[in-house]
Amino acid sequence: MAPPRKGDLSQEEKELLLVIGKGSAEEAGRLLGSKNVRVNFLDEHGMTPLMHAAYKGKVDMCKLLLRHGADVNCNEHEHGYTALMFAGLSGNKEITWMMLEAGAETDVVNSVGRTAAQMAAFVGQHDCVTVINNFFPRERLDYYCKSQGLDKEPKLPVKLAGPLHKIITTTNLHPVKIVMLVKENPLLSETEALQKCCRVLDLICEKCMKQREMNEVLAMKMHYIGCIFQKCLGFVKEQEDKLDALIKSLLKGRDTDGFPVYQEKFIRECIRKFPYCEATLLQQLVRSIAPVEIGSDPTAFSVLTQAITGQVGFVEAEFCTTCGEKGAGKRCSVCKMVIYCDRNCQKTHWFTHKKICKTLKEIHEKQELEAAIEKRRQEKKQKKDEAQADPSSKSEEQSESELEATKDADGRTEESVLNKEPTTPPARAASLPKNETSLAEVAIEKVQESEE
Ligand SMILES: [Zn+2]
Ligand SMILES: [Zn+2]
Repeated sequence: MAPPRKGDLSQEEKELLLVIGKGSAEEAGRLLGSKNVRVNFLDEHGMTPLMHAAYKGKVDMCKLLLRHGADVNCNEHEHGYTALMFAGLSGNKEITWMMLEAGAETDVVNSVGRTAAQMAAFVGQHDCVTVINNFFPRERLDYYCKSQGLDKEPKLPVKLAGPLHKIITTTNLHPVKIVMLVKENPLLSETEALQKCCRVLDLICEKCMKQREMNEVLAMKMHYIGCIFQKCLGFVKEQEDKLDALIKSLLKGRDTDGFPVYQEKFIRECIRKFPYCEATLLQQLVRSIAPVEIGSDPTAFSVLTQAITGQVGFVEAEFCTTCGEKGAGKRCSVCKMVIYCDRNCQKTHWFTHKKICKTLKEIHEKQELEAAIEKRRQEKKQKKDEAQADPSSKSEEQSESELEATKDADGRTEESVLNKEPTTPPARAASLPKNETSLAEVAIEKVQESEE
């Protein structure tokens, strides 16, 4: 079928474009019911209604259009933009996900040679980058649930597809979290199931590397998850509840500063074992990690997370010290230097955290004090400067300048928080100078919190 001509719109189609921008889904639905409206018509730039709706971040409109048969992969735009690219540009995660679910191709490039993920990254929509990079349609996994060729039985039992898919699509690559996901599912946490999953992960990894549009990011992710499964396998073989022992090994901090050495070494080893040495991503990762001494920043976990999920924008989010989950809000009540999702994560970490909690508490208090002194010093200096600049200044103006000083201090704190290594769990390695900066930042935050 010849593509519809650009910009040749009926009255109702023109109306639909207006409704997508400002109107209700009901109005749009009514127009889509008209025989004078083609769902995939092209405006003068080659944009379809779906592209308009995606770009404007209209979730309901996108749903409606897809239901009416909108073509998610239409590629008639004058600069080669797809609906997925517009979704990524809009920064709307839900729409990005919707386009992918509807079958949007991720490797199509526009006229400047950029994919949807690259376009989203270019405009700083990192949440959308994460969604695109970690999308793995369930059908791709279900393929392994059917017997292929001479195989007597499928490589993956149907009952494992759901739990495995959940792990494959996770954006939290923390090894403890992945072991927790394995542990919480009795179907997964037994020898034979783990072996089968490992095999399937290897096959997907291989496919990602050998297909025409190579996907190194997904290949690395599959390999990494496979390595964790292998590790689980080793522990499960010994004893049934051995996964708890694995979690403990991954969390155990060294005596000096609580840094989880085994975890760091394990992740580094996973990366190094990636079977395709020529991969650009592998070389990049190794280059970033190799010169870093164990215990310093960046950690292998943060480098890997950044490479796979593109998580660089999440600087303000707080990550659980135990499982790396985003949005953790429970602080250790003693040292106030580590955060957790919930009591469970705190309990899991306590066996090793208890050894340095007191030290962290002292550091925390010292930093808090220093920050308070520094702030007062700044305020005094400011007042003095103000007084010098205007000797006739009244007390009213002085209190105003005090306010200014507070604002300044806030501004600076925000800046330093932004410069912080994004995925570094706070206060992990207390004795290292690099981390002392971030401890200071946490302390400053605390001071501000208590002042509020
Ligand atoms: Zn947690
Ligand atoms: Zn503590």
